[in-house]
Amino acid sequence: MTKVNLAPPDASSFDRWISGFRGRALGQGIRPDVFDGAFRGARLDAGIVLKDRNQSEFTTPIRDYIAATVTAERIGNGRAALREHADLLGRIESRFGVEREVIVAIWGIESAYGTFRGETPVIGALATLAYDGRRAVLFERQLVAALRILQAGDTVPGKMTGSWAGAMGHTQFMPETYLAYARDFDGDGRRDIWGDDPADALASTASYLALNGWITDQPWGMEVILPDGFDYSGTSTRVRKPTREWSRSGVRSADGSRLPECEGAAILLPAGHKGAAFIVFDNFHVLRRYNAADSYVIGVGHLAGRLCGGAPIRVCWPHGDRALSTTEAEELQRLLLGKGFDPDGVDGIVGSGTVAAVQAYQASVGLVADGHASPDLLAHLRSGSPQTGVDS
Ligand code: CA
Repeated sequence: MTKVNLAPPDASSFDRWISGFRGRALGQGIRPDVFDGAFRGARLDAGIVLKDRNQSEFTTPIRDYIAATVTAERIGNGRAALREHADLLGRIESRFGVEREVIVAIWGIESAYGTFRGETPVIGALATLAYDGRRAVLFERQLVAALRILQAGDTVPGKMTGSWAGAMGHTQFMPETYLAYARDFDGDGRRDIWGDDPADALASTASYLALNGWITDQPWGMEVILPDGFDYSGTSTRVRKPTREWSRSGVRSADGSRLPECEGAAILLPAGHKGAAFIVFDNFHVLRRYNAADSYVIGVGHLAGRLCGGAPIRVCWPHGDRALSTTEAEELQRLLLGKGFDPDGVDGIVGSGTVAAVQAYQASVGLVADGHASPDLLAHLRSGSPQTGVDS
């Protein structure tokens, strides 16, 4: 169970928490002057706690997420960014082996190409989240990492701004990610991902993908058309097979092009068997290291494709469908667990473990085993009375 401070935000108990944390931070090598400078003016932000419980990639239906993310404006601005920064992006591409359209797509989704880098003071935001308790350990680690960045002199507290969750700069790095991957690409001696010049931030993003195994020239994935009678139980990022095996079973690309060779390709149905289908390759999993939501990865990959002149997604997404809220997803996971289908943790996030458990449940009651955690499926689980064959 997660631990939550149910009491209303209370400045004096927050101050006591800071005193306690100060000792722990100093114990990890943070200098007192760095700590005190960073925490001068840091305040508890109750709004941040509420936002932490409603992360959009997991609760927005993927149709709406893609529509809101890969807009004509974002495609146009991305193409303009590719032209404006062609020289820089070319140098980053040859240094790290990550295609420029992918870097620009992440930049576009994370901060609208640097337009919205976040103005929340990062120390206050991370301290609020560490104090709140839901993911205290994670956020306290991030807070210590943020203090290390200040101690190293890469930036100053007043310029260390970001999102409410502590993601910083053009491509929204968390402090620990920054410490491990940030680059001083323009050679001025500071790894500046916060300022107007995007050079360091974009190189840092390429560095992150490269060090996590990015394969140059391999697409993230592509939309596919599945044959009639396709066995949906094999659609999960856990079922990885060579592309040629998928081809032999009748999987075709939606645009008629040849499917690229990959030994570990998977079929993904982010909106169930009535929505678009994708084949995803190794680079899909590299992008998941940036953000684990399938819709985020598909959004980045699809935007990158559109920046290169690729086609829109062809298959219509099912209407009247919606994603489960975090609370509903937790209930779904508990019900699955109760029926003997282990979703690999009850965390309210529909990941590959939940998809696999949903598929096993669907198969056991005679539903199409597409792994789609829909409100209909939750209702089916709640009713406890199997209605075989109702899904078509
Ligand atoms: Ca620099």
